Amino acid sequence: MTVSEGQYRIGLFGGTFDPVHKGHLLLARLVLDRCRLNTLLFIPAPQPPHKRQPLVSFGHRAAMLTAALADWPERHGMELSLIEASLPAPSYTINTVEALRQQYGPQRFLLVIGADSLLDLPQWHRAPELLNLISLIVVQRDAIEREAIEKTLRTLDPHCAWNEELQLWQGTGEYAVEFLADVELPVSSSAIREDLLQGRSPDMLPAAVLAYIKRHHLYGWLSQA
Ligand code: ATP
Repeated sequence: MTVSEGQYRIGLFGGTFDPVHKGHLLLARLVLDRCRLNTLLFIPAPQPPHKRQPLVSFGHRAAMLTAALADWPERHGMELSLIEASLPAPSYTINTVEALRQQYGPQRFLLVIGADSLLDLPQWHRAPELLNLISLIVVQRDAIEREAIEKTLRTLDPHCAWNEELQLWQGTGEYAVEFLADVELPVSSSAIREDLLQGRSPDMLPAAVLAYIKRHHLYGWLSQA
């Protein structure tokens, strides 16, 4: 039996989304379909604890996510959750998960995370407790070696090991870690911000998001209009 099989499966996709890009949306579709999720919640962080602080306000980032999702043809199952706006800063994932359990009932949410961010997981606030509450879907990024992922998981749970039959990591407790190893989406918000600063319109920005950025002169974009 894999993670929460037979149950309504809710994925959590937290991030800065500064701004949301097509990589996020393609990744969401892929995870929804491949991991048989019913819903994937996009959860923007007002103040991410583990990264540099966002360039634009939470309100703008949430509005860009709303515009991107409204316009994306393959959006079924994708939803926006602004829950972190009502939680204390910084936006620790454990607090978000506890709040979502109040909202949706106690269940094992599946946290979607890029392989780059997974390597920081042991430094997250109350990380071992978090692993008691969730399972993980790790999406390949920056060609991170699977040994590095396993080593990271073992710092949280020394019993964590790859289950060849189920094709996932398991350990003590009920969590499971799936790995979408063959995914390659070479796009980042940082590269997009750099393009915008240079006055270029990045291909990987959804049209509705680019229109929003131009309208509000975000990321140093100077409108010629
Ligand atoms: P930045 O370039 O500012 O660091 P980002 O593109 O990583 O931004 P975030 O909003 O910080 O975007 O990402 C949210 C989550 O999505 C993180 O877990 C991140 O690893 C993952 N993610 C974002 N883009 C990709 C991608 N192209 N491939 C795989 N995972 C991604």
